[in-house]
Amino acid sequence: MNIKRRELIKAALLAGVAGPMSAALAQTKRTINKNPVLISTWNYGRKANAVAWPILEKGGSSLDAVEAGVKLAEADPNARTVGYGGLPDREGKVTLDACIMDSRFNCGAVLCLEQIMHPISVARMVMERTPHIYLTGEGALQFALANGFKKTNLLTPESEADYIEWLKTSNYKPEKNIENRLGGELNHDTIGMLALDNTGNLSGACTTSGMAYKMRGRVGDSPIIGSGLYVDNGAGAATASGVGEEIIRIAGAHLVVGYMEQGLSPENACRKAVEKIVKINPDKSRDLQVGFIALAPSGAYGGYSIQPGFTYAVKSGTKEEVFKAKSFYR
Ligand code: ASP
Repeated sequence: MNIKRRELIKAALLAGVAGPMSAALAQTKRTINKNPVLISTWNYGRKANAVAWPILEKGGSSLDAVEAGVKLAEADPNARTVGYGGLPDREGKVTLDACIMDSRFNCGAVLCLEQIMHPISVARMVMERTPHIYLTGEGALQFALANGFKKTNLLTPESEADYIEWLKTSNYKPEKNIENRLGGELNHDTIGMLALDNTGNLSGACTTSGMAYKMRGRVGDSPIIGSGLYVDNGAGAATASGVGEEIIRIAGAHLVVGYMEQGLSPENACRKAVEKIVKINPDKSRDLQVGFIALAPSGAYGGYSIQPGFTYAVKSGTKEEVFKAKSFYR
């Protein structure tokens, strides 16, 4: 090889130009599993997986699968922590947060969106039809209405009755929700879903009505790229549920994916992120719940939480199961 040619190849590699040689290198580094896999937070994830699975089975994209899956929870009035029927903020307004991310670092999100049944689809439109990533409040609503979404009253009579009851004390302590998280009827919260399709592409979606009775305007981790959700097709995908402020503090989902990039298994990556939250504030962590789930490009998956009680649902060609995540405290 003459010097000129060698230098050209070196320059191309340094610039990250994808030639046949660099493509071959990438192939050897990353084990691609072409068998689709879905993983979703909480027991409720099982139903969402059932909606998303046929899309993957027919060879559809992971992006379409995660959007369709979480839409089920958004429209379900019995899912009291997501979308329609979600518990309101302390002024009685249901405000929704959602984000979506594909295999090519494209992402979109809506924050504090009101009166729209499917924030995840608005987030996808932000990703696909605007030069931006986040739209908030009034602007997000305006964008949704301009794109054909219709206004809906999201406060169901059940959620309104709970809110009126709550007003009697107006006591806001998100940590106390832990009792519900540990087996009560609200034993599912934010829905986060990760999917691997048969082309080896990962995507994720995360949607919530946030912490019940939060301050007006409060935004948790769920719509924040890198906190509630992160996808790096070469390293893995992760999503979170639990007290959003603690997840944001450590950029939770990005941290989990970063640990996977360093070679940790999905479960160990989630465990390390949980340990970081506990280390930052050991006393407070005793009353907090945060759970992470993660999916590797190989199809390996896992989850881990601070407290027992966090569950996640997995669906693949050979498996349909709800797992109890291992936890820091027993
Ligand atoms: N992570 C959500 C938030 O902080 C709530 C949850 O998952 O329970 O808004």
